[in-house]
Amino acid sequence: MPSFDFDLFVIGAGSGGVRAARMAAQRGVRVGLAEVGGTGGLGGTCVNVGCIPKKLYSYAAHFAESFEESHGFGWEGDAPKLNWATLKANRAREITRLNGVYLQLLSGTGVQVLNGYARLLDAHTVEVDVSADGRIDQQRFTAKHILIATGGKPHVPHMTGREHVLTSNDMFDLDPFPARLLVVGGGYIACEFASIFNGLGSRVTQLYRGEQVLRGFDDEVRHFVAAEMRKTGVDLRLNAGVLAIHRTPQGLEVNLEGGGAVTVDAVLYATGRVPNVQGLGLDTVGVCQGAEGAVVVNDAYQTNVPSIYALGDVTARVQLTPVALGEAMVLVDHLFGPVAGKAARNMSYEFIPTAVFTHPNIGTVGYSEADARKRFGRVTVYRSEFRALKHTLSGSTERTLMKLLVEDATDRVVGLHMVGPDAGEIVQGFAVAMKAGATKAIFDSTIGIHPTAAEEFVTMREPVATSAKS
Ligand code: FAD
Ligand code: NDP
Repeated sequence: MPSFDFDLFVIGAGSGGVRAARMAAQRGVRVGLAEVGGTGGLGGTCVNVGCIPKKLYSYAAHFAESFEESHGFGWEGDAPKLNWATLKANRAREITRLNGVYLQLLSGTGVQVLNGYARLLDAHTVEVDVSADGRIDQQRFTAKHILIATGGKPHVPHMTGREHVLTSNDMFDLDPFPARLLVVGGGYIACEFASIFNGLGSRVTQLYRGEQVLRGFDDEVRHFVAAEMRKTGVDLRLNAGVLAIHRTPQGLEVNLEGGGAVTVDAVLYATGRVPNVQGLGLDTVGVCQGAEGAVVVNDAYQTNVPSIYALGDVTARVQLTPVALGEAMVLVDHLFGPVAGKAARNMSYEFIPTAVFTHPNIGTVGYSEADARKRFGRVTVYRSEFRALKHTLSGSTERTLMKLLVEDATDRVVGLHMVGPDAGEIVQGFAVAMKAGATKAIFDSTIGIHPTAAEEFVTMREPVATSAKS
């Protein structure tokens, strides 16, 4: 038996890498982990430039409407003004605190954390450009198993003026605050950042190349959220794109496909993310890659090189933090055995709940109406659209949409969708019921919590349509 420096070497300290390293170390095995961002990179995309700072800014943006709506409840006076520098500083402080928590969690379980870029040399060897005291020292480590958890990075297509474009990574520390912002894209990031910067006070124009934003979501949800975003002030333009971007004394002039131009202070491209694999040595070692370089793995997250595994965004499957966490726990159970007394975990990619933190939020789990029809044949649709109780006094015209899709053959709820305040919080609990196979009869027999928006999901009685497989 060869002897290795580590039982597991993890490349990348993001959601998946940290969870795998920590869980493996808790089982008493020797774990090394390299993070190119050093201590400041611990937590990866989600902690540093993703979920967490994004959600903090989303909270900040929601205050704008809350101040406005408070007048209907008797609050008087002018709305306070946003101090962007304070928000940025407070966010940065919280992220640094989280980086420290991650370091403690890793060190506390005995993971050896290395500050540096890692590359594969062979099936069991990793080279790390360890940086310490301003010097870079190349060190080699051997490991029985190597985990690639290097995540992804923003992808910006080529166009004239690409050098003027920002990605989501740049938005958190932008200086000065963009009074006029153009957002290109129609996915999660584009819609969330359009909503957030609109709420914070930017005049936001959003361009999406297709018929409707958020491709893959339920069609009714897509149309509904687009209409709500427009009501909040986002100038959302569909079938629209950029020809070229030029800097002028008035700002960035963006020439649009089909004619016309907009002048803005900043342009955010949120046009998808690609796997972070550059310089990783995948070619050298012969690891199979798919589209955009994604690492190809089997059901056990193993690459074609048996000692090398990969999970999370670098595999370009479902790019969500809880998915990377789930995959990491399954992998650790597989490699080192489950926690004593527990069964080995498994990972199902069906009924993954997700939220889009637009204003208002989307919360969804299960199939869209179109996909449910394709998959299950006859499906009954329940739908409710209403003005939330709060808005009877707030003066807001915001509306809420809720939708249930029920497979006729089994009465099982196979799709649950919401556009409305706190949709993510509400849908999480329903996702548990749906994983457990809850039927519409069980929803109907569940007592509501009154008065809430969520109770609507257990009080929808009249179907709106029954549809057969086409
Ligand atoms: P990452 O978290 O990207 O971590 C990879 C790590 O590897 C990074 O720290 C990187 O520096 C490091 N690395 C890369 N190459 C090397 C190398 N060669 N050597 C050493 N280190 C290396 N998901 C949600 O579930 N909810 C959300 O609300 C949400 N919001 C998001 C908002 C934004 C703006 C973005 C961009 C993403 C968001 N996501 C969200 C997605 C989520 O952040 C990712 O799915 C998740 O971070 C993936 O985890 P990961 O471990 O695969 O990779
Ligand atoms: P998405 O894949 O969600 O969206 C990319 C968008 O860019 C799509 O609208 C796509 O259009 C458009 N696009 C792609 N290429 C071009 C191009 N060349 N020109 C113009 N438009 C283009 O990626 P995001 O970057 O928004 O986010 C990446 C992933 O991160 C998400 O898929 C999600 O998994 C995760 N994430 C999760 C969040 C959450 O959980 N709340 C929040 C943010 C990110 P089309 O649809 O036509 O292809």
